Amino acid sequence: MRTHLCGELRASHAGETVKIAGWVHRRRDHGGVIFIDLRDREGWVQVTLHPEEQPEAYAAAEKLRAEYVVAITGEVHARPKGAENPNIPTGEIEVKASSIEVLAESETPPFLIEDDIDASEELRIRYRYLDLRRPEMLQMLRLRHKVVKAIRDFFDEEGFLEIETPIITKATPEGARDFLVPSRLEPGNFWALPQSPQLFKQLLMIAGVDRYYQIARCLRDEDPRSDRQFEFTQLDMEMSFVDQATIIDTTERMFKRIFKDSLGLDLQTPFPTMNYRESIERYGSDKPDLRYGLELIDVTSVFADTQIKMFQSVISKGGLAIAIRVEGQAQMARKDLDALTLVAKNLGAGGLAWIGFKEDEISSPLARVLSKAEIEGVRKTCGASTGDLVLIVCDSDPTAFMAMGAVRTDLADRLDLIPALVPEDPEAWKFLWVVDPPVFEWSEEEKRWDPVHHPFTAPKAEQEALLDSDPGAVTAEAYDIVLNGWEVGGGSMRIHRPDLQRKVFELIGIDEETAKRRFGWFLKAFEFGAPPHGGIAPGIDRIVAKMMGLDHIRGVIPFPKTGAYTDPMTGAPDPVDQRTLKELHLKSTD
Ligand code: ASP
Repeated sequence: MRTHLCGELRASHAGETVKIAGWVHRRRDHGGVIFIDLRDREGWVQVTLHPEEQPEAYAAAEKLRAEYVVAITGEVHARPKGAENPNIPTGEIEVKASSIEVLAESETPPFLIEDDIDASEELRIRYRYLDLRRPEMLQMLRLRHKVVKAIRDFFDEEGFLEIETPIITKATPEGARDFLVPSRLEPGNFWALPQSPQLFKQLLMIAGVDRYYQIARCLRDEDPRSDRQFEFTQLDMEMSFVDQATIIDTTERMFKRIFKDSLGLDLQTPFPTMNYRESIERYGSDKPDLRYGLELIDVTSVFADTQIKMFQSVISKGGLAIAIRVEGQAQMARKDLDALTLVAKNLGAGGLAWIGFKEDEISSPLARVLSKAEIEGVRKTCGASTGDLVLIVCDSDPTAFMAMGAVRTDLADRLDLIPALVPEDPEAWKFLWVVDPPVFEWSEEEKRWDPVHHPFTAPKAEQEALLDSDPGAVTAEAYDIVLNGWEVGGGSMRIHRPDLQRKVFELIGIDEETAKRRFGWFLKAFEFGAPPHGGIAPGIDRIVAKMMGLDHIRGVIPFPKTGAYTDPMTGAPDPVDQRTLKELHLKSTD
């Protein structure tokens, strides 16, 4: 139907007769001459029509409206001097149409098909097929494609096999709620959608596959958050007979390849590595954004003999006073301080104190109870100068750190500390490995240990004995990769001995009978010779979102749910008829 794509025509095509097809981007009537910008995936080109020179085509053009689909035949001409458009790649030429065929008409679209529109996200998702016509969205699809292709090329060259694992399966524990699928053939029984291919990739190692990867869809029934969707895509990989260093090295080389092939950038490797606890103590987070400072400072010792009742009671029980110095913000508005207090409280802190260091006084809600020595102590420990603000949370460990971590992220936002993305700037990409997290964290709610990663994560071999005496102190052979404040991948070396796996199940409250029922099939495989193995799963949506400078993954998913987890395009979820429910042996209680 066509000889060229609209967006690829250049001055070198001048004199050629071409056939192009696409959407009417714009139609302008300029005193007798009609200009049509015809758009396809590669961009748009100007088509011109004169009533005398091309009477038939001109008549057809008069009826065209935005987003009509047309096929045009015409000759490529250099634009007259002064009429060039240096802002578009086809700006030196135009196509003088000799014929126009309308292939499809279009209603007026609900928003303009161009970049930087202000249509609501709901509307854009409702008409996603129109949204995807916009150049920046097509660019996103292209980038996503390039990222996935770089991943496939890389792993192919490294001797990995791409293998698919089931989508309808049994629940896999990644710490989220499962999506369930009722079984029609077995009344009362349910399948589950996989939260990740975790168990199957481990079985592939037991099967002797040695090196596996997959561009895998993961399905988790989680509450909305900007870096989450019900379904997302991971690069899932697993290797046998390797150690943590090999997996980290392979992952870094994969990231290097992704950035080189899709953005033409050379990432500096190795990425820095930080111990999990250090990350919590310095940034109040296990996924710190290193594009700005605002590091946490321990000021507990300043308050060793304090008269401040609240601080006294927390510190005497082993709690901590953790501070952040904010340069030049001694005059921060009360409403900002109140908002920051709320941020700290949402993370479980009792409150947020502050000291504004002014010329020869301080402003602080604690002004009357702070001793001179404490004020000086805080000033010195934090390196505060006149004009600076110091924020303090006094609470238990790790609440004090986590609350200040949230305050830190909020401050960066509030004070606009994150520079706009300049991809060529090496400082734009702050990668970090966060390693050696604990295997378990104590759940006060459930009164039991929960896995920090997932229950198949290996404890450090030399710490196995601690599993009996002090489970909270056991470090995992696990690693997360962080990019600009998002965890863009997590992985671990796995348990490959059945006795150790049983013990970990027991500690997280899965008794032998439950373990058998839920994971018996999996544990059985370990009785037949499991190689030492480990892997990782970087999130493709998160990587692409970061590459595009977005703060949510919805923008890089071709057909996402909204931020409130609705799907305005299809209207799902919606009720099904009684017959279908009956077939599935289900009864709605609503
Ligand atoms: N299955 C893990 C996850 O989805 C990744 C891994 O441990 O390889 O987070």
